[in-house]
Amino acid sequence: MLDVRHFYIHIPFCRRKCRYCAFYSLEYNSAMSAQFIDSLKQEIYRTSKNYSGGSVYENSTIFFGGGTPSILDTKTIEEIISLIRSEFDIENFSEATLECNPESVSKNKFEQLRNAGINRISIGVQSLDDVILNFLGRIHNSEQALDAVDAAIDAGFENISTDFIFGIPGQTQQQIIGDIDKIIVRNVKHISFYSLTVEKGTPLAKSVATGEIIMPSSDEIAEQYYSATELLSNAGFVNYEVSNFSLPGYECQHNLAYWNGGNYLGFGPAAHSFYDNRRWHNVKSVGEYIARLQMGKTPMDFSEILSSAERFEEYIMLRLRLADGFSVKTAAEILSIDVEILWSVLKKFIESEKMFKKGDVVALNTENRLLADGIAAKIVEEVFDEIE
Ligand code: SF4
Repeated sequence: MLDVRHFYIHIPFCRRKCRYCAFYSLEYNSAMSAQFIDSLKQEIYRTSKNYSGGSVYENSTIFFGGGTPSILDTKTIEEIISLIRSEFDIENFSEATLECNPESVSKNKFEQLRNAGINRISIGVQSLDDVILNFLGRIHNSEQALDAVDAAIDAGFENISTDFIFGIPGQTQQQIIGDIDKIIVRNVKHISFYSLTVEKGTPLAKSVATGEIIMPSSDEIAEQYYSATELLSNAGFVNYEVSNFSLPGYECQHNLAYWNGGNYLGFGPAAHSFYDNRRWHNVKSVGEYIARLQMGKTPMDFSEILSSAERFEEYIMLRLRLADGFSVKTAAEILSIDVEILWSVLKKFIESEKMFKKGDVVALNTENRLLADGIAAKIVEEVFDEIE
């Protein structure tokens, strides 16, 4: 039996689609949701026959993402957690996260979620300005967002994360700082802080293409990011990943498992999985997902074994986003190259103070965090050029 301890559940429904969103989700429909849950349980049950988690209480995680997982009733969430625990032999989850949107929660619902085994709540606040929320196409307002945070606290959740978006047209640095201040004073332990990206096929992309909406410049975006970083750092938050900040001990263990190359299983439409150098994902369409499982077929749509070059690229891309950086020795071993080749490429990034070196580890200097993806891509390209 194989061993797995990290689980992702994709709930593909939302009340309404946000203007900027490219995640796979449909508008909620109770009949389809019921069929989806039956299929999801089938997928979990069938997959479990090949794996075993083995009672690893300390570091087993489950993450309900989406979509809007809080759209489901609590009994369904509890059933899914119980099914995974029993089928994968998990004694308990050390971290069980549920993503929520402010309009679909209450103190009562949060209490039920705690009883169902959820111990970490991630709330999609995005902004505390009603004009900005309206621009984004969110269906909640700022008061509902703060009420949701307060309700989670009142229900006894200690580990609460809030998502914020910056780089929104019309948004000011002062607004962002004010929003984060209102969250910090509530003793929220974790903040995810993402730049608004214009994703292909979204209504936002169409408006940007026609010139109806003009996105902020990269300088404005950087100013917003670094001013928020400074505020959070002064409040004791650690910027442990480019877009993620937490008080010490409250880093998201589930996401750290992804970023550190751990094995995980994803269930639901469009869910991704990774196990021992193999990654795969399910069909995107909820209808096809349901149909396949009802016919006894696999919902898997794509599967590949990663080559050493792909593993190397993934290792650098993911690890350079982490404050802890990457081990040069491990990276060289993945690609089976002499470690000196890698050091020769890294030398100029270190000399130009983009990165620093500590023993075998290299990481980005704080002021270059926002450039992580570009620098990682450059390192990979230069290493490949060296060994060609
Ligand atoms: S609530 Fe989240 S997943 Fe749903 S449409 Fe909005 S951004 Fe996308």
